[in-house]
Amino acid sequence: MPHTILLAEPRGFCAGVVRAINVLDEVLAREPGPVYAFHEIVHNRYVVDDFRARGAIFIEDIAEVPAGARIVFSAHGVSPAVVAEARARGLRVIDATCPLVTKVHLETRKAARDGFDVLLVGHAGHDEVEGTRGEAPDRARVVDTPSDVQALASGDRPIFVVTQTTLSVDDTADTIDAIRARYPDAEVRNDICYATTNRQAAVKVIAERADLVIVVGSRNSSNSVRLREVAAMTGTPAYRVDGIEEIDPAWYEGVETVGLTAGASVPDSLLEPIIADLRARGVTRVEPVIVAEETVEFRMPDELRVETP
Ligand code: SF4
Repeated sequence: MPHTILLAEPRGFCAGVVRAINVLDEVLAREPGPVYAFHEIVHNRYVVDDFRARGAIFIEDIAEVPAGARIVFSAHGVSPAVVAEARARGLRVIDATCPLVTKVHLETRKAARDGFDVLLVGHAGHDEVEGTRGEAPDRARVVDTPSDVQALASGDRPIFVVTQTTLSVDDTADTIDAIRARYPDAEVRNDICYATTNRQAAVKVIAERADLVIVVGSRNSSNSVRLREVAAMTGTPAYRVDGIEEIDPAWYEGVETVGLTAGASVPDSLLEPIIADLRARGVTRVEPVIVAEETVEFRMPDELRVETP
């Protein structure tokens, strides 16, 4: 049975998720009436269930929100069409979009304005990708893999490339290589964020030393799913779980070292019962494996800032 846990650092909450959670916390505390959130505020089941229990109402369609109500946009961002629809209904909006996602929106909008066709490397249907694509619906096409690039219809305009923030660093490099091969003059922005990059680097290091890797994160969390894939690429068995209840103790058979990490939307409290359970099974050593230090913080939206004298 396991005797060691390798704890990836960094893991869990990134600055964008902390900000989005703080925004919704603050709005719930201040708003007397119901508070709506467009899409899951962050992609984590526990976080969303907790907010729901505290009164937040998560919706997928702006039309569900009564005119004049308070609404919070999630960390993943929304398209201009959603913003316009919210305005048209007189909704009082607070935007919790991660500033690093906003940066991709601005790049996309500017590129379309400057006459480029935009290739958005990402997963079609993901909230963030839909929001970004909405900045240039007639000019932006989503590509995920090198074969998607081969399948693109030819066009006359120059190509500008942006990416989803939570992609696999390695897979994205392959897709960008394919884009550069087909469009040698393409202007490329790789927008994978610092948090995604650092968590993937850390999980790679622990996976190389562990016999098993557990990634805590929800199935709709792109960065958590990528962490499991990155770990598995090293050849070490890797599982993604929402929490301890999804762990099959049979996974621990014959395992001496367990690698543990969590996606960017996962509270560290979800790891505590897993560590306690492993200690009860004989683990005597919990070793933090520090791959990067993070100091990024994002300030709250102006509407929620409390000025100190
Ligand atoms: Fe922002 Fe990156 Fe966190 Fe997404 S994963 S919320 S882009 S810091």
